[in-house]
Amino acid sequence: MPTPSRAPAACLIGWPAAHSRSPLIHHYWLRTLGISGGYSIEAVPPEEFAGFIAELPRRGFVGANVTIPHKEHALSLSEPDERARAVGAANTLWFEGDRLRSTNTDVEGFLANLDAAAPGWDRAEDALVLGAGGAARAVVFGLKERGIARIHVANRTIARAEALARQFGATVVPADWDAVPGLLPRSALVVNTTSLGMHGQPPLALDAALLAPGTVVNDLVYVPLETPLLAAARARGLRTADGLGMLLHQAVRGFELWFGRRPQVTAELRALVEADLAQN
Ligand code: NAP
Repeated sequence: MPTPSRAPAACLIGWPAAHSRSPLIHHYWLRTLGISGGYSIEAVPPEEFAGFIAELPRRGFVGANVTIPHKEHALSLSEPDERARAVGAANTLWFEGDRLRSTNTDVEGFLANLDAAAPGWDRAEDALVLGAGGAARAVVFGLKERGIARIHVANRTIARAEALARQFGATVVPADWDAVPGLLPRSALVVNTTSLGMHGQPPLALDAALLAPGTVVNDLVYVPLETPLLAAARARGLRTADGLGMLLHQAVRGFELWFGRRPQVTAELRALVEADLAQN
């Protein structure tokens, strides 16, 4: 009798095993698409990461998400695509035959969320990115992919914005934090990639009255769901995209790579994750 083949499974590898919404998202898609598969959280300390990755197939995993503190290590242990290389970190691993490949799905999560929430946003000539950390690299790479002419990057530590401009080229213009009020009226897209506005962090002090009509405002922070920045933009009647949308959209590609079907970000899934966020 043939041995029954194991259902495909993926996992999230982190240390410590922080609470994550990824299992909720992938289990929802497995259930609603009728796919028998699994998604678990694996707590793997840094010194065991390389060994764990080498044994993914033996452990029954067709791929994985990777989170803090393993994202850079994952990049070096795999064959990254252009997005992962540009961001300098991998968050999704999968196999092409025997080759372990990696990507960074924050880029497509960012773009797909804006496409869904504010179609036509990419007609912007000037975009303003607040922050110059890891998330900003994914955002800037996405904006460059879409051909945005000028990407102003304002950061508290200007040296990090300058480093980003050196990496991504002349369309990226570094700016002092003090320059933000002057840049707001000319930016058709404003993206907050700092942690300002997150629960437990200082607020993002930004005068929404300076935004031009038609500006699209995107906040990557999703706790709280409606940040003061998004609330102020909505009060002005501006189109907005929130951080939860990006979180959901960035999960799509991993699922498709592991389980072979491209899932949808539905209102039902969003409500499920919103309810989970409200509890924690
Ligand atoms: P990171 O690499 O640590 O960068 C943090 C950024 O915030 C830096 O630019 C930092 O400026 C700035 N910042 C922190 N405190 C500040 C303060 N008091 N005043 C001014 N600037 C301050 O973090 P990250 O990985 O880029 O993540 C940033 C945010 O994006 C987090 O809230 C994260 O949850 C969110 N995020 C969301 C998604 C999603 O799917 N929605 C995905 C990725 C990230 P300095 O350089 O001056 O320190």
